Amino acid sequence: MPVLEDRVCPGCHTPTLGDRPERRGVLAGLCTRCERLWLDRADLLTLVGHEPELRAPLLPGLAGTDALCPACGQAAVGERECDAGPLLCCSACGGVLLTRAVLDGLRGSQRAGAVASLVDASERVSAAPSVDAGLQRGEGPRLPTGAELRAALRRDDDAPVGDRPDRVPFDHPVVELGTFPLAAVLGWLVSSSDGAMTFVLPVQLFIHELGHAVPSWLSSRRALPLPCGVTFWEEQRSLFVGLGMAFLFGVLAVYAYRERRPFGVALSAVGLALLAFFSLAISAERSFEWTILGGVAGEFWISALMIVSFFFRLPDRLRWDFFRVLLIFPAFATWW
Ligand SMILES: [Zn+2]
Ligand SMILES: [Zn+2]
Ligand SMILES: [Zn+2]
Repeated sequence: MPVLEDRVCPGCHTPTLGDRPERRGVLAGLCTRCERLWLDRADLLTLVGHEPELRAPLLPGLAGTDALCPACGQAAVGERECDAGPLLCCSACGGVLLTRAVLDGLRGSQRAGAVASLVDASERVSAAPSVDAGLQRGEGPRLPTGAELRAALRRDDDAPVGDRPDRVPFDHPVVELGTFPLAAVLGWLVSSSDGAMTFVLPVQLFIHELGHAVPSWLSSRRALPLPCGVTFWEEQRSLFVGLGMAFLFGVLAVYAYRERRPFGVALSAVGLALLAFFSLAISAERSFEWTILGGVAGEFWISALMIVSFFFRLPDRLRWDFFRVLLIFPAFATWW
């Protein structure tokens, strides 16, 4: 590392070189005019890490004459090219004058295969441009396993529609076998004590009012059952109510059929048959009698239907898998 202070830059031919400490203890000559660095051969090796390959330029400079070397003093500094770009090189001592860009370029390519391994890594991460490229990148082609074939062949519509897990499972032994006798015994105890029955009374009243309302709806009459123990109904039959009831039973049938809930299909079929019977088959006076007498009858048959329905799935929208567990208790208390 010679001291190059105020020596002539072989590129600019002016005394503009100055000493400049670089990394790894290298003292370079920095030209303040062209901002190129003069490095001894050994210092170049130290900074770059390998012997760069230098070639004669494709197009020789116009000057054509070699400049004076600031290190060894011989007129032997001529243009060369390396992988990172052009530079000046003294053919006598091997010193070079180069820009920082060329120096950095030489340093970056010091590890053989560095760029290749980068390209390789990015190809493994990024999407394969084609199926063939993806296969080559992966383990190569292989036959699908039996399970994969079966999964591909199994069609989605083979699974029952709407077969989501029940909120309260139907096949749980404790729930299924435990709730029923518990509700039965509890309902019997409640119904035999006047004090306890007052708690169930609102539900019992509502079931009673439903007993009035259901025959009314089935005979195409407007009816509004209220939990306080009153039902408003009209004596006049209404086509709107009749069609509305038919529509509701139809919706129940469609959902129950789609979700494979036969009990729901049966309910809607019975409902439609009763609707036809009360609305069309019997006289208006007779169907109105059913409405008036329906309250006491409803206490029996509606609670019985609730008890029986405990064991059957209904369309998911109704959340019956959950409500059945709540309703079974007042249903029993009313039924006894
Ligand atoms: Zn210069
Ligand atoms: Zn030289
Ligand atoms: Zn009544």
